[in-house]
Amino acid sequence: MNSIGENVRQVRESIAEAAIKAGTAPESILLVAASKTKDAEAVRQAVAAGVDACGENRVNEFLEKDAQGAYEGRPKHFIGRLQHNKVRLITGRVDLIQSVDSAELLQLLEKRAALLDTVQPILLQVNIGREETKGGFLPEETDEAAALAASLPHLRLEGLMAIPPAWEKSSGSWPGTKNYPFFDEMYRLYIDIRSKKYDNTHIWCLSMGMSGDYPQAIVSGSNMVRVGSAIFGARTAPQI
Ligand SMILES: *Cc1c(COP(=O)(O)O)cnc(C)c1O
Repeated sequence: MNSIGENVRQVRESIAEAAIKAGTAPESILLVAASKTKDAEAVRQAVAAGVDACGENRVNEFLEKDAQGAYEGRPKHFIGRLQHNKVRLITGRVDLIQSVDSAELLQLLEKRAALLDTVQPILLQVNIGREETKGGFLPEETDEAAALAASLPHLRLEGLMAIPPAWEKSSGSWPGTKNYPFFDEMYRLYIDIRSKKYDNTHIWCLSMGMSGDYPQAIVSGSNMVRVGSAIFGARTAPQI
């Protein structure tokens, strides 16, 4: 197996190729290392190899690795489903919460950020595949959610995030192209919300694309990809 450093270099190369296809500069695409189940040392290697940010899915795992200094020198992102009873543990401790998936969670984050007298940057997660098993706002609910986020002074909405349906490898067309329509729909939604110019927002980020499909996501307009297994190797137990 390749080293983490070598993997990061290869991912960067694919990002650059896709960025050129999309007509944007390779540097404008941010690479987030999604390090769930991987230890602090692995995260440190990814940081040393120059990933732009580190993303974690689970609050406890994040706190553990953060205490070990795993993310030093890089922004920290929370990218997993945030349980409401863990809001107090994560608000103000990460640079971006990518996975804000309900109006109730928006209100809880606002309350906590106000208590801490801080402003928490967030993305709204969109359930672009309309999957019952996934969290997030439906596409038609996203504008209303953005307006709500804009009205909450201790949150700063910076964009949208999506995890389109995963396709079975056995389907023959994995990775990839089947997610194109979802990526394209996300891009339209992102442009639409950005064009509304809501107060108290700074919409610059469209976070989509994982190991199996990040080049396609970039071609469709993503400027932030969250890559796990292509950097760290396979996870023993699949976890979202
Ligand atoms: C695990 C995970 C990723 C990365 O997945 P890979 O397929 O391993 O690249 C990205 N985003 C989220 C939200 C994840 O949970």
